[in-house]
Amino acid sequence: MLWKGRRQSDNVEDQRGQGGGFNLPRGGPGRLRIPIGGRSGGGMSLSTIVILVVLYFGLKAIGIDPLQILAGGDGGVGPGGGQITDNSGQGTGAPASDEMKQFVSTVLAETEDTWTGIFQAEGLTYEDPKLVLFSGQIRSACGFASSAAGPFYCPGDRKVYLDTTFFQQLDQQFGASGDFAQAYVIAHEVGHHVQNITGILPKFNQMRQQMGEAEANHMSVQVELQADCFAGVWAHFTGQKGILEQGDMDEALNAAQQIGDDTMQKKMQGYIVPESFNHGTSQQRQTWLARGYRSGKLSDCDTFNTPI
Ligand SMILES: [Zn+2]
Repeated sequence: MLWKGRRQSDNVEDQRGQGGGFNLPRGGPGRLRIPIGGRSGGGMSLSTIVILVVLYFGLKAIGIDPLQILAGGDGGVGPGGGQITDNSGQGTGAPASDEMKQFVSTVLAETEDTWTGIFQAEGLTYEDPKLVLFSGQIRSACGFASSAAGPFYCPGDRKVYLDTTFFQQLDQQFGASGDFAQAYVIAHEVGHHVQNITGILPKFNQMRQQMGEAEANHMSVQVELQADCFAGVWAHFTGQKGILEQGDMDEALNAAQQIGDDTMQKKMQGYIVPESFNHGTSQQRQTWLARGYRSGKLSDCDTFNTPI
């Protein structure tokens, strides 16, 4: 990715070396402000967003706060989430280089620009997430997490949490190297932010309270694959800027392959338990990432109404 010299986001909070332990104000749902524009014809994206937002405020009105505290592992989609990082247990505390921070800040800025544009086209306003770089351990509005929990997004404070040693692990342990593999991981977490501010994540976290584990896992897969698709949408527009290099998308697709539930489980435990999948198989993750990338359309990321 030709990222050097491009804008770096101001939304990166560098907590490396602090050992976590800071307290964050809980981001209240009152801060959820999505002006609904008058433009129609946005296909699934606008209508779905409107429905979900209405539903969100409906729940609020009857006294249910759909925002759940989520902890552990990418997207925090519940117990057993975080397949990305279970069993990692290595590489804590190595300071990320300034270049790594610059890279992360640049990728985050690219996501801000892209999602701002996508939201504007739908008559909506995108609110940037923060991204916290940490080492070792961190306390978020979603609770305490160690780097072994891997990158995750906390809807409670609207922050992406990233220990960049995960990128080493991605490379050395999971065989997913390259800067665009890393960019994909960041874009996937930002995808969860998009799901959060459009009401999809709160809705999921509310619904999963009424679900059995298998059903919740299935819906978790739908949420995760949509985040992959959103990462693909971001990559689509990033490609249009001419800053993708030959092989970049292959790096992202390979990462999606390597962190698929089936591939991870085979690697870690030697066998697969499909009912426990909560991020999607390698094939599914690649498919949805590629799908978003190919069209750049949110309407192609409806994992809830499309066979996955
Ligand atoms: Zn995720």
